[in-house]
Amino acid sequence: MADSESKVSNFIRNIIDADLAAGRFASVRTRFPPEPNGYLHFGHAKSICLNFGLAQDYGGACNLRFDDTNPEKEEQEYVDAIIDAVHWLGWAWGENQYFASDYFQKMFEFAEKLIEAGLAYVDSQSAEAMRATRGTLTEAGKNSPFRDRPPAENLDLFRRMKAGEFPDGAHVLRAKIDMGSGNINLRDPAIYRIRHAEHHNTGNTWCIYPMYAYAHPIEDALENITHSLCTLEFADQRPLYDWLLTKLAELGCVNTPLPQQTEFARLNLTYVVLSKRKLIQLVDEKHVDGWDDPRLPTLIGARRRGFTPEGFRRFAEMIGVAKSDAWIDMSVLEGCMRDHLNETAPRRIAVLDPVKLVIDNYPAGQEEECLAPNHPQKPDWGKRPIPFSRELWIEREDFVETPPKGYFRLFPGNKVRLRYGFVIECTGCDKDADGNIVAVHCNYFADSKSGTSGADSYKVKGNIHWVSARHAYTAEVRLYDRLFAVEAPGMGGRDLLDDLNPNSKIVITAQLEPALQDASAEARFQFERHGYFVADRVDSRPGAPVFNRTVTLKDSWTKEK
Ligand code: ATP
Ligand code: MG
Repeated sequence: MADSESKVSNFIRNIIDADLAAGRFASVRTRFPPEPNGYLHFGHAKSICLNFGLAQDYGGACNLRFDDTNPEKEEQEYVDAIIDAVHWLGWAWGENQYFASDYFQKMFEFAEKLIEAGLAYVDSQSAEAMRATRGTLTEAGKNSPFRDRPPAENLDLFRRMKAGEFPDGAHVLRAKIDMGSGNINLRDPAIYRIRHAEHHNTGNTWCIYPMYAYAHPIEDALENITHSLCTLEFADQRPLYDWLLTKLAELGCVNTPLPQQTEFARLNLTYVVLSKRKLIQLVDEKHVDGWDDPRLPTLIGARRRGFTPEGFRRFAEMIGVAKSDAWIDMSVLEGCMRDHLNETAPRRIAVLDPVKLVIDNYPAGQEEECLAPNHPQKPDWGKRPIPFSRELWIEREDFVETPPKGYFRLFPGNKVRLRYGFVIECTGCDKDADGNIVAVHCNYFADSKSGTSGADSYKVKGNIHWVSARHAYTAEVRLYDRLFAVEAPGMGGRDLLDDLNPNSKIVITAQLEPALQDASAEARFQFERHGYFVADRVDSRPGAPVFNRTVTLKDSWTKEK
């Protein structure tokens, strides 16, 4: 437990510490239980880091369990994608990978035991009748006319349900608890339904499927989970969770100590939506380019965007877990990515909005190398040569004819340093017939090269980056920004789609330093003065990488607010 003590404590750690101190459990076992009906999103990352992180810190284990009890929406494609995403986040689970559907036979046998013990019955009311007799928050429910069916009759009907004798909806199996309970979840909840549907794992073996509220506690108990962590909306289900497991333990179906459910606040993040339903809408209606669109808050989207697993883990650690809902600002997540990328991404030069700079007094055929550090704070990462020649690409915004106050970059008569290169003095510009600037002119000072003894005698305020035109790698670069333009998309009665940020993806042709042509897919860089970029893992080809902007160097959103 030494490791866990170095972490910031939280109410879940306190519970675990107390349980271990009281000897309730010998070791900690958690689980991450996704339903394979979609791609994982940033909210899942919180749950993953929490469950796997606690298991790691306490020297326990965390299971990856696919909660695949609903045959209609689940697919192998999602199972594979979930495995990839959890691995990508850096977690491993060895042999501890399970499917809820592997327990269907046990769940069925346990249901038979509940029936025999008079704790479950087959209800043959219509769905409407069941809804009508359920009661309300202030009013008790009414007993079903089938509630007192004798166990033998229930058992026979339940087995015939399994055998496929009845159509969907003809009967359900309900736990027999208390129609007068103040907690609606305890008013004889349905635990099995008939569904003639093929399941991705069990095929057509079953035509009855357990309800989530029945299946989940059994899954936890069969896997000897100690702490079953879920989001707050399941708090009302906890009494049912405990009732079922207590009864099943008394019937000898499951082992003690029983798992204990603890709820925590789900992640709510500004400027995105974290609901599968809304994500599906964005993908299906083609507002984004598929599930791995770098703007989507899916983990495969984040990976393409250049977000890092370490950044997510840092984020999870930073936001912690709490017992009440709160919103986390997107800038917190972006800040975690920036911090990690700042430490790990080599620096490179890119001109995103290029205009030519001609050094008129530099000989046309000549070229030489300048040296640029790979990381300003890490001299051990060394320097790389970048070619210099008479014609360079510079940023269009680094030249103006008439400078506003405080502008220190290029304008006629002004001197600036070409970063890692020479000091130049601007002499003017060329324009086309429409008055657009097509080239900027300057002269250089041959004794001013960075790193040489003469360099220090030049004092200039401006320092601009550049790429040799003859050597540049011309590449597609996607400038991604936040998908939504407002903090809470689709809230307050607005249409989600009206809140989309029209500038969330801008594709440009940029001029990059030649070394970037060799970048392998997923290599991450800081493009100096611009931000962090990644070679796209889908569209890059060897020798022809395409770059995605992960995040800008500074947070422009918080400032604008
Ligand atoms: P959604 O609400 O987006 O449809 P879900 O809860 O239905 O997601 P599951 O596959 O059931 O998705 O979730 C797997 C686990 O991830 C559950 O334990 C769930 O509580 C947790 N989880 C889902 N969304 C969040 C979130 N926003 N913050 C923290 N945990 C989450
Ligand atoms: Mg769910």
